[in-house]
Amino acid sequence: MIVFSGAGLDRAAARRREPEWLEERRTEQRARAVLMSDDGVLVDGGRLVLDPPSREAVFLGLMDEVPVFADHIGAAEPPRGHAAGLREAATELPSGEAALAAYAGSLLAWHRRHRFCANCGAPTEPRDGGHERVCPACEAHHFPRTDPVVIVRVTDGGDAILLGRQARWPEGRFSLLAGYVEPGETLEDAVRREVLEESGVALDSVAYVASQPWPFPSSLMLGFSAIADRGEPVPGDDELAEVRWFERGEVQQAARGDGPLMLAPPYSIARRLIDAWLAER
Ligand SMILES: [Zn+2]
Repeated sequence: MIVFSGAGLDRAAARRREPEWLEERRTEQRARAVLMSDDGVLVDGGRLVLDPPSREAVFLGLMDEVPVFADHIGAAEPPRGHAAGLREAATELPSGEAALAAYAGSLLAWHRRHRFCANCGAPTEPRDGGHERVCPACEAHHFPRTDPVVIVRVTDGGDAILLGRQARWPEGRFSLLAGYVEPGETLEDAVRREVLEESGVALDSVAYVASQPWPFPSSLMLGFSAIADRGEPVPGDDELAEVRWFERGEVQQAARGDGPLMLAPPYSIARRLIDAWLAER
């Protein structure tokens, strides 16, 4: 199971466009809303805090026919429990609930950042259960964003893997190379460009592996594996402080929590890609 995915709900994308149907769902006695504050999602006793939805709630979907919404409570005091950042939620909550929190967090973050029309600057209004905003002044339609990020496990085809350390990370922490997809690029183009820019390493083969919603605030991580000739990598931009090949044994040791190398947390796709490589031998 990929963390932040698999909420297991029916998004009811066709029905949610009907305001009457949506209002009936919102006012059902069993309807519930995930609550997000400015500090994160509300959690109590390792489970999501779920309350009846407000009038401003955005619709997430139906879970076993139960309508599920999300509400932003801003800086208000939590009714119960505490606000957990989504990284914390990923480890505290059951995986289906972490996925709901990620979905709610990304959608509500988009609403907070898109209150004004990008076309004419007028205030926009939510539609479609919160899956669209419309500008009454110029009639532009705005949809929730998902920003594609490629992340790539580069190996030499054998026992070495290419890892980088971002300048803002502590000493010893390394991970796979990653970057945003730019306009006009295929995913494979983006993988090749990012690795070349960040390490000077040219890739031979590139293959898609898996994806993960990454709600910080609204990325989609697209995981690839690639093979390259083992040359001497050089950090090519300001993002990485170090980039180098690691031997399988060093990475195995780090995966056990030993040694100087620190890997990404277990809920990340970076770690899944690394662990899958370790499991090959
Ligand atoms: Zn407008």
